[in-house]
Amino acid sequence: MTKEEEIPDWEGAKEFYDKYETKEILGRGVSSVVRRCVDKRTSQEYAVKIIDITPSDKLNSQEIEEIREATVKEIDILKKVCGQENIIQLKDCFESTAFYFLVFDLMRKGELFDFLTEKVTLSEKETRNIMRALMEVVQFLHSQNIVHRDLKPENILLDDCMHIKLTDFGFAVQIKPGQKLKEVCGTPGYLAPEIIECSMDAGHKGYDTAVDIWSAGVIMYTLLAGSPPFWHRKQTLMLRMILAGKYDFSLPEWEDRSDTIKDLISRMLVVDPKQRYSAQDVLSHSFFSQYVVDEVRQFSPYRRFKVICLTVLATMRIYCNYRRAKPVTKEVIQSDPYAVKPIRKLIDACAFKIYGHWVKKGQTQNRAALFENTPKAILLSLVAEAEEPIQHIW
Ligand code: ADP
Ligand code: MG
Repeated sequence: MTKEEEIPDWEGAKEFYDKYETKEILGRGVSSVVRRCVDKRTSQEYAVKIIDITPSDKLNSQEIEEIREATVKEIDILKKVCGQENIIQLKDCFESTAFYFLVFDLMRKGELFDFLTEKVTLSEKETRNIMRALMEVVQFLHSQNIVHRDLKPENILLDDCMHIKLTDFGFAVQIKPGQKLKEVCGTPGYLAPEIIECSMDAGHKGYDTAVDIWSAGVIMYTLLAGSPPFWHRKQTLMLRMILAGKYDFSLPEWEDRSDTIKDLISRMLVVDPKQRYSAQDVLSHSFFSQYVVDEVRQFSPYRRFKVICLTVLATMRIYCNYRRAKPVTKEVIQSDPYAVKPIRKLIDACAFKIYGHWVKKGQTQNRAALFENTPKAILLSLVAEAEEPIQHIW
């Protein structure tokens, strides 16, 4: 018998259990557990987020009250954003004194985080599809003055057709036009500099929707590079890097990436929120207007000529690269295996397979440690993590 079934006092919970049968755990949050569930009448599958608001050793009454208020706010926002195709749909909602049950469409393909862990890095085309959908959601939210405040690959789910659905509106808030926020919340690696500044300076003027663009920039960088732009074993040093906007495109993964994509990222990861791109600016960037293929194409001599020119150029490029390429000999593989791209990808994929569970467990973005690829670095990360637990919320 699970903990939630032992609590006797609850009308809403009874209603939920009368209607649904709960199955295995799909994910866990700070104060919630998400399970697969089945509608007993229709046999339709869903995901239920069960939020625990019972007093325990871990939670005092003030914290419980905060979770209760946050959940009411989350439900309110979920109802407001209902209908946008890339946002998770809240299907049902039950409340008892001890638990909340939020029933959502089931996303069988899980988190974007896991997809990325499996693939290590994504192509520009895959990144374009994901980022376009994500930025359309962000634009929609910002048009209603809603700030998500916790954009990260763990909160982006994939449906059967690999379309994204944004979830976890636990930190989302609707502001008045021009209103600034000061509350410090989010996940360390994705925090915008102005949120960190708010935690250091009580007189700070606050932040607004621009924080989501910063987090989306961090996501975009991570999708392409496989590791996040701001990362250090010591959280304080990582926060300092964010405050200074200190990141680069020096990883070997960036060698083959276009200038267009780097340009867009560098306009999202701008420390000054006033200079940072808006969601509309991001969607209008040339990165998103490339490779748009019309469904039905009319014959166009100009387009045909352009395709021929591009084909000749591409063939020349492939030929030149082929001539420049050094043969991969046993000696090269033995002396510096990480310098050979396919082998590098293979090593990274193996590392993620072995350490994936650990990467996911930490609240911090520690994928980067795996890219260092030395047992010592991984060990140091584990030690640092054990010494310095990172909080989801301050
Ligand atoms: P929290 O606010 O506690 O972080 P989330 O809403 O982010 O909770 O859910 C936690 C995890 O549960 C997600 O990261 C995901 O792995 C899983 N999950 C949440 N909703 C669904 C869903 N609709 N379908 C499948 N898995 C889900
Ligand atoms: Mg979450």
